[in-house]
Amino acid sequence: MLVRFWGTRGSIARPGLSTVRYGGNTSCTEVRSSSGTLVVLDCGTGALGLGQALVKNRPTPVNGHMLIGHTHWDHIQGFPFFAPLFISGNEWHIYGPRGVDASLRESLSGQMQYSYFPVTLDDLGATLHYHDLVEGTLEVGDIRVTTRYLNHPALTLGYRLEADGVSVVYCTDHEAYSTQRPEDQVQLAGEAVRHAQFISGADLLIHDAQYTSAEYAAKKGWGHSTPEYAVDSALSAGVRRLALFHHDPMRSDEAIDQLVAGARERVAQAKGTLEIFAAAEGQVLELERSVTPPRPSEPKKQTARWDSAVTPSRRTVLIAVGDSGVRRFLEEAVADDGLRLIPVSDCDSIPAMVKSEQPSLVLVKHGLENCDAVKLARTLREDPSTGAQELPIVLLRKSENPAEQRAESAAGITDWLMLPCSKEYARTRIHAWLLRVACRWKNAPQPEDEESRLRRLRASGLLDTAPEERFDRFTRIAAALFEVPIAFISLVDRDRQWFKSRTGIDATETSRDQAFCAHAILHNDIMQVTDAHADERFADNPQVIRGPRVRFYAGAPLSLGEGTPVGTLCVVDHRPRSLDDDQLKLLRDLSKLVERELLIGSSSGSS
Ligand SMILES: [Zn+2]
Ligand SMILES: [Zn+2]
Repeated sequence: MLVRFWGTRGSIARPGLSTVRYGGNTSCTEVRSSSGTLVVLDCGTGALGLGQALVKNRPTPVNGHMLIGHTHWDHIQGFPFFAPLFISGNEWHIYGPRGVDASLRESLSGQMQYSYFPVTLDDLGATLHYHDLVEGTLEVGDIRVTTRYLNHPALTLGYRLEADGVSVVYCTDHEAYSTQRPEDQVQLAGEAVRHAQFISGADLLIHDAQYTSAEYAAKKGWGHSTPEYAVDSALSAGVRRLALFHHDPMRSDEAIDQLVAGARERVAQAKGTLEIFAAAEGQVLELERSVTPPRPSEPKKQTARWDSAVTPSRRTVLIAVGDSGVRRFLEEAVADDGLRLIPVSDCDSIPAMVKSEQPSLVLVKHGLENCDAVKLARTLREDPSTGAQELPIVLLRKSENPAEQRAESAAGITDWLMLPCSKEYARTRIHAWLLRVACRWKNAPQPEDEESRLRRLRASGLLDTAPEERFDRFTRIAAALFEVPIAFISLVDRDRQWFKSRTGIDATETSRDQAFCAHAILHNDIMQVTDAHADERFADNPQVIRGPRVRFYAGAPLSLGEGTPVGTLCVVDHRPRSLDDDQLKLLRDLSKLVERELLIGSSSGSS
């Protein structure tokens, strides 16, 4: 894997004599897998140079993926100057965290409004696809990407990239969750441990190191790290190489040299083997497979893609915080977000309320007179009838206490929010907890012959055509035959499923991420989901918890003669049920008839 830095500065570009060696451009890093997948990490002013290099002397399309950590200016200012986006025929996928207020696309178009910039997002020539992300994993070409929320006043994602047997973790605009040393933190739970797992064993860790520890004292809560914290985290997580990144605009080249020397000294004192440097504009690294294999995949694979249908608004949060000051603070922090905050006066009533209100988050203030948070956490975790094994329980604390926090963690407290903090910070953290639980369903893997499958589908000329009686009669028959309210013929396109015919639903298409049919086309025979609530592939799918409230699904694959099927004929019900063998045979028979119609209509013919 190849890594090239195009911009390493934080906050604002700082060209000039004092920054010649490490560079003045803001965050932009190019990553390439050996097979050629191109990933651009952040799009600060450094993206100008990268864009120019990419389009120079290249007649072929320049396609790639852009992963944006968050939409603060220093991470997106190069976007309107990134040349490949202006050339028609190029195709770019833009990924970033869904903001608290707005989608990624809305945030990016904000800086391209007429009063700031002469060209709008819609005027860009390339084909752009936007992907709002939450925590989880996704595949970008042959690179596996894991996302994790970082500690920053705005909702920010870090990215772990794994390909060619090596791993690169990009972790900037991030501050320590705790003032405890990382060795102590790993004893704790919560974000600190999640962060340690996230960077664990990385071949290269690109880490925020904006402030010296002297500066940090005055800049706590600004969302940036010290080199000391970066070094300690890297050492305790077994990282091979650490690139100090997001250099302060006021830091001269000589001052950065000193930070590096200090960081190396710290490694030597710890008798570590960590290799350290400060990322410099223009620097290229070729990462080779390490002797130790990369850490095994996390067993629970969640989709990292966000779906706008799952909004964290109208979600319920139980708050047991006692005095009205903290309560008012929380209410004001999330005032615009449509959350339902239910105040609770004593912890003993929370388990019953968890059952009746089904909250997405519980916030408890530490040290409340009539609230034993440890006992509460134990009850919620141990009593299966509460259904709260995974429910985030966050403790609001005025100070850290490693011994107490260890006990709290062992009892099942998820995390801590340290008070006082800013309202924006509290809001960002609350959203991170809610977004994590909001999105638990699985993307179907892509078929191996995906590109040729898509070519077959598109050559068929069936996509985006008008309704046709010859297909509609089959969905009507299927709905009547199996006594279901919904039946449709779905064609699974690159990012969506499009309904050639539908009975009982209004939508003309849904995203592929949500499509049961995206799973069904991977099967040779009918895929049956007898109860979506009990199936971890679908339990929290928006099509299940909202939308048509799918509870039962059966889909028969539709093939265009060869390769992976292009779509399905499926039936859906709002209640759990199943098809018996006779019914399955009928659905199979019907699907064969639909296949014949597909081939007749298909411009690729019935060859
Ligand atoms: Zn930044
Ligand atoms: Zn930032």
